[in-house]
Amino acid sequence: MKYRVYFFLFLLIPSLLAAQSRCLFDDKLQAVAQTTEFIETQRKIQKYNQKTNKSETVFLIPVVVHVLYKDQSENISNSQILSQINVLNEDYRLKNADTTNVEAGFSKADVAIEFCLANRDPNGNSTNGIIRTATSIDNIGLGNQYYRVSPIWDRDHYLNIWVCDLGENVAGFAFPPGSPADQDGVVIHYSNFGNTGNVEPNYDRGRTTTHEVGHWLNLLHPWGNSESCSTDDQIADTPLQGVIYEKCPSPPDSSCGSKDMLSNFMGYLYDRCMGNFTEGQKQRMRNAVVASRSSLLLSDGCMPVGLTERTLSQNFYISPNPCTERTFVKLGGEAMKKPHRLRLFSLSGQLVKAETITQQNGYQINTSALEKGLYFIECQTEEIRLSKKLVVF
Ligand SMILES: [Zn+2]
Repeated sequence: MKYRVYFFLFLLIPSLLAAQSRCLFDDKLQAVAQTTEFIETQRKIQKYNQKTNKSETVFLIPVVVHVLYKDQSENISNSQILSQINVLNEDYRLKNADTTNVEAGFSKADVAIEFCLANRDPNGNSTNGIIRTATSIDNIGLGNQYYRVSPIWDRDHYLNIWVCDLGENVAGFAFPPGSPADQDGVVIHYSNFGNTGNVEPNYDRGRTTTHEVGHWLNLLHPWGNSESCSTDDQIADTPLQGVIYEKCPSPPDSSCGSKDMLSNFMGYLYDRCMGNFTEGQKQRMRNAVVASRSSLLLSDGCMPVGLTERTLSQNFYISPNPCTERTFVKLGGEAMKKPHRLRLFSLSGQLVKAETITQQNGYQINTSALEKGLYFIECQTEEIRLSKKLVVF
């Protein structure tokens, strides 16, 4: 109900509407906020948000970019697309050079999330992670055609980004966790994508996508959902903000009785004046991944075809996965009737554990002493060798 009230406030105040139009996330949030999936997903995430979690495991998320174009200026180059993936990997790993924009006293976090352009598609075939589709529809991203013309790849295994025409004023939007499965991704105006090629002045460093992926990972704007000090973004270390700043204002600037964090990626400043997510935003995003998008961490989307694990998933069970304290491994079918060797490897290939298993009912692995991260569990009998990913969170 709160969302609805403030939504109408936006419609009543033209100056706010102008600021609001740059990112349509609040409209998408409003559209899904009353659905059962959204409410249940947010409830799950909220349980994690109430805990203190210090995990630094690097999450790797496969990305597919759907380019929808009416002319060649909108059919952006592979290098422009790659530049955006690079920007994401800088901004979400605190490798961006412009953290100097962050004022003293504010936190700047390595979110420890990385992104790859998909190397394999949902059918296991090789891909460059880019789908190009010609269209004659004007402003296709603003209607309900973009995800029908270029349908989503399974949101449980890929971050879907549609790059297309959003008209003159809108730079992008995203759906929060708990949104419809056929639209649960990010949409970016073609000239606000990447930092090279056909990019619009001032919004030319890929920050629109950094911002929208933040929404997709459950972040709100720093001002909550209205220019008022009574709405918050539910993050402890971002100050209450009652003003939406644009362009490159001179810090310090304040509202709600405290100094505002102008440089935050979730604001509306010009790309060159941004520089950080906070520790609180980091935890909220990572909790969203673990609670609602954890299957992304087990996706093979980043893995080139031909270098795959030898996986027979129907006969190899690992649960829970991701895990914290322990997980349970079991081989099904004929394989379980014979002794098998179980080995646990770190992401870098280092052997972490080795056991010979004779129990037919499976084996429990204590993971409480392991460093947080991605591992491979390999099970080998005389006939077969199977391996799967395990995430220790
Ligand atoms: Zn936004």
